Amino acid sequence: MSQLFELAPDPVLEMTGSDACFPVGRIFCVGQNYAAHAREMGFEPQREAPIFFTKSPAAVCHSGSTIAYPPGTENCHYEVELVVALGKGGFRVAPRDALGLVAGYGVGIDLTRRDLQNTARGNGHPWDTGKDFENAAILAPLTPADRFGEPGAQPISLTQNGEVRQEADLGQMIWSVPELIAELSKLYHLAPGDLIYTGTPAGVGPVAPGDRLVGRVEGLVDLTLEIGEPE
Ligand code: MN
Repeated sequence: MSQLFELAPDPVLEMTGSDACFPVGRIFCVGQNYAAHAREMGFEPQREAPIFFTKSPAAVCHSGSTIAYPPGTENCHYEVELVVALGKGGFRVAPRDALGLVAGYGVGIDLTRRDLQNTARGNGHPWDTGKDFENAAILAPLTPADRFGEPGAQPISLTQNGEVRQEADLGQMIWSVPELIAELSKLYHLAPGDLIYTGTPAGVGPVAPGDRLVGRVEGLVDLTLEIGEPE
């Protein structure tokens, strides 16, 4: 049967050192996974359960882009994060088996309309408009897992116009990468193509037109993003 119209194709990510690209499936994200960031947001860090939310593939923006300052916000924040890219699926995965699902890792920015997120949170409403919008899931090219090794204490940072705004290491995550995969797999049948944004360290702040952001995780490809004028 013919279709009434064609949808935009789902995004794909470059995989360093590979001719094959990584097709993006679902995008899972984790909130408050670094204690100092939880505190700067006004919360006490907790280990009861990870805070998961999602973005749609339509939110993907590739590193190296210049994006318009997002609509509907006056307080749009950067959040640099390690992104885990799954090459295999799993359900109720044990933490010791979890890294076996990972195809690669990348640097991401979870761009956030903080004003909309905070208003939603205050009203007990969903975060979607604060988190899942066009160009809100910025991604650098991936690095294969066997090249990166296991997530440990690699430094993670973000600079804004050359000034360091976020600086931490991956060992400061409250929920480790294997734990996040295991927890998420209690809620979803994880599948190849799924991405997990693993949370941001302290130092989040607003972006402005003219900004140049650089996100880094040692061992991965740098992410760059420029912010243009609003549309
Ligand atoms: Mn985040």
